[in-house]
Amino acid sequence: MAILKVARLGHPVLRKKAKPVKVSEIRTPSFQKFIEDMIDTMHEYNGAGLAAPQVHVPKQIAVIEIKHNPRYPKAPKIPLLVLINPKIKIPAREKEADWEGCLSIPDMRAKVPRYKKIVVHALNDEGKKITVRASGFFARALQHEIDHLSGHVYVDRLSKKDFRTFTHLQEFQKYWS
Ligand code: ZN
Repeated sequence: MAILKVARLGHPVLRKKAKPVKVSEIRTPSFQKFIEDMIDTMHEYNGAGLAAPQVHVPKQIAVIEIKHNPRYPKAPKIPLLVLINPKIKIPAREKEADWEGCLSIPDMRAKVPRYKKIVVHALNDEGKKITVRASGFFARALQHEIDHLSGHVYVDRLSKKDFRTFTHLQEFQKYWS
């Protein structure tokens, strides 16, 4: 078990386009160890997800899991999911705005517009093709993590009007939740 250091906004690695993972690499012990470390790191910081660039590795890997999460007490439970080289499809253009935070932008929140429903094609941690259909908070978490793989963070998705919801966590708890 290892807790990895999380890159904060301003570190160039968060703005790089992550490279696809070679299928032959997935089953190697060092790759499997890295995925375990990503999961441990996500748990340690109570993240709902983590993308490899957030731990200074510009590769297309993301993990998502929501048990009971004190950072998102109202969120539904989502079983552990490892996504490698994910591609998003948008079946309907409808969006909704809801609160998001990011381990790379500590102690901040904003109301971010995201597609309500998405379909994700990816490889899992065994290198097998998977298809994930998601809506609501799950779809939001996937869009957030997959955005990291193309060098985007949630504040990039805010319009000028949305930006007016950008708030420190303490003020979020006091005035918005
Ligand atoms: Zn994030």
